Amino acid sequence: MTRVGFGFDLHPLARGRPLVLGGVEVPSEVGLDGHSDADVLSHAIGEALLGSLALGDLGRHFPDTDPRYRGISSLELLRSVVALVGERGGRLVNVDATILAQAPRLSPYLEEMQKRLAATLDLPVDRVSVKAKSPEGLGLVGRKEGMAAMALVSVETTE
Ligand code: MG
Repeated sequence: MTRVGFGFDLHPLARGRPLVLGGVEVPSEVGLDGHSDADVLSHAIGEALLGSLALGDLGRHFPDTDPRYRGISSLELLRSVVALVGERGGRLVNVDATILAQAPRLSPYLEEMQKRLAATLDLPVDRVSVKAKSPEGLGLVGRKEGMAAMALVSVETTE
């Protein structure tokens, strides 16, 4: 059976925080705020993976009240999620993700994110798609208050 999972995440931007997207640190005066490294792209992909097998959300598996996850690289969380999906008989086929951000320009970093995520997810790079959209100044992302990401995954299972 082929199953599909959808993931969404949104984090506020704050001064003095690194901007980490897909495990890549992007030069920026502001970064995403959160308990972990607040990598909104990796979180959206993790949520999609969990969603594909109806395993709940990231908050359920990695509660932000747990000090073990403070400042943790979200690629590590993603690795754990892939392992969990594997234990449940799922095999990730592909990922398609979009980051919604007003600034900085992300296009120079997308390929590196794709490579980093593919290595983490144990997939060939041509099965990991990372795109970026600007909201043209609209809404909270347009006002640079935060960044969002969305992801779809397909997962093959034996039943
Ligand atoms: Mg998050």
